[in-house]
Amino acid sequence: MLNSDVIVVGGGIVGCSAAMFLADAGMDVNLLDRGEISGEASGLNAGSIGGYGWGRSPGLQEHLTMGSLDIFKSLQIEKGYDIEFRQSGSLVAIQSLNQYEYAQERVSYLKSEGMQVEILSPSEAKSYEPNLNGDLNGYMYSSYRGQADPIKSTRAFSEVAKNNGAIITASAPVTSLEQAGQGWIVRSHNRVFNCQALLIATGAWTSEIGNMIGLNIPIQPVRGQMWATDSIPPRIFHTISSMESSEYWHKNPIVNEDSPPELTHNGDSRVTRHLYGRQRANGEVIFGGDRELLGFRDDVSFTGIEVNKTHAGEILPFLDQLSVKRTWSGIMPFSPDGLPLIGRIEQYENLFLATGLGSSGFGRGPGSGMLVADLIVRGEGHPALQESIPTRLIEEIRR
Ligand SMILES: Cc1cc2nc3c(=O)[nH]c(=O)nc-3n(C[C@H](O)[C@H](O)[C@H](O)COP(=O)(O)OP(=O)(O)OC[C@H]3O[C@@H](n4cnc5c(N)ncnc54)[C@H](O)[C@@H]3O)c2cc1C
Repeated sequence: MLNSDVIVVGGGIVGCSAAMFLADAGMDVNLLDRGEISGEASGLNAGSIGGYGWGRSPGLQEHLTMGSLDIFKSLQIEKGYDIEFRQSGSLVAIQSLNQYEYAQERVSYLKSEGMQVEILSPSEAKSYEPNLNGDLNGYMYSSYRGQADPIKSTRAFSEVAKNNGAIITASAPVTSLEQAGQGWIVRSHNRVFNCQALLIATGAWTSEIGNMIGLNIPIQPVRGQMWATDSIPPRIFHTISSMESSEYWHKNPIVNEDSPPELTHNGDSRVTRHLYGRQRANGEVIFGGDRELLGFRDDVSFTGIEVNKTHAGEILPFLDQLSVKRTWSGIMPFSPDGLPLIGRIEQYENLFLATGLGSSGFGRGPGSGMLVADLIVRGEGHPALQESIPTRLIEEIRR
C-alpha cells in the first residue's frame, strides 16, 4: 500500500495546481489521472484567462480569476516556465444595438464595483487590434484578461508539484474509494493507495466518482469544440470574443429546465452563437464557442464549426480568407447553478472537491487549486469559499 497525506484524483489544471500548492506546503501528495496529465479539457481549451480586476469587495469570482492571473504570472515570470502567458487584454465585439445597451449596463455595473473595463469605439478598438471590423457598434475592452498555452501551463503545474516532492501518476484510473477510519483507501485496478485526505478534481467525470461513494454530485458534461487555421504571421494580439451570447444569456440563462445555465443549444436547436479565440504563439488562429449537452460525446459538429467560423469572420474579416486546418472538442464540467463546487464534502471525513468550473476553468483553475489546497492544509477555508460550498448540490444516492 502506498501512503501519502493527500491523494488528488484528476490531472487537469485544477488537480495539478492543487498538487503544486499542497506539495509547496510540505504535504506528501500523490496525484492519479486515468489518462495523460492535461489530457482532457485542461489541455483542449482555448487558453483564455478571464478577470476584470479585484474590485472593491472581492468575492469568489475575483479570487478565482485574479488569483489565477497572479499564479499564471508567477509560473512564467518567477518560476521561469514558458507557458506562453501574456496579459494581452481582451476585446468583446458588440454587434447590435441590443448588445450595445447590454454592454453599457454591464460596464457601468462593473465600474461601480471598481473593475477595469470600458467600451471602445470601433476606431479606438482598431488602434489596439488593427484587423478588427470597424463597422461594428463597438468593443468592450478589459486590460486584465490574458492568455496562455493550456497544455504547457497544466504540465508546468505538475512539474512544479513534482519538484516539490509530489508523485504524479498518469494512466492510473481510480476504480474505487473507501473511507478507512478518517482517511481513505483508493484503488486503481490492482494498485492500492492510502491517504489522510482525498481531493476529487475529476472535471466532467465527477459524477462517476460520486457514484463510487454513494453520492450524487451533479456535474454535467458539456461539449465544447474548436478549430484552428494554419500558422500565419502575428495578426491577432488580444483574446477576442462576442457579446452576442452574453446578451442572450443575460435574458435567457436557462435554455432547458434540465440543463445547466448558459448553453448554446437546446437539444439539437441552436439558441445563440458563442465565440472566443486568439492567435497562439505558433501562429495558429484558434476559435471555438459551442456548448452542448451531449453526454460524453467528443466528436466535432462541422455545422457548429462553420457557424463559429462565420461569426469570427464578422469580427476579424481576414479570417474569411483562411481555411480550417484542424478541429477538436473537449468536455467541460458544468454545475446545475453555474457556480463552482470547491470545498469539503461534508458527508465524509477528509473528502474535498474542486470542480464545476464550466467554460472558464482554465482561467480559474489555478485559483481553485490554491483555495482548496489552503483548505486542506489549514483545515479552514478562505471566506470566499462560502460561495462554492459543494454540499449545496450533493445528495446521498438512495440504494
Ligand atoms: C473546447 C474548450 C474550450 C475552452 N476554453 C476555455 C478558455 O478559453 N478559458 C477557460 O478558462 N476555460 C476554457 N475551457 C474550460 C476549461 O478547459 C475547463 O473548465 C477546465 O479545464 C476544467 O479543468 P479540470 O481540471 O476541472 O478538468 P479536466 O481538465 O477535465 O481534468 C479532469 C481530469 O480527471 C481525470 N479523471 C476523470 N476520472 C478519473 C478517474 N476515475 N481516475 C483518475 N482520473 C480521472 C481525467 O482524465 C482528466 O484529466 C474550455 C473547454 C473546452 C472543452
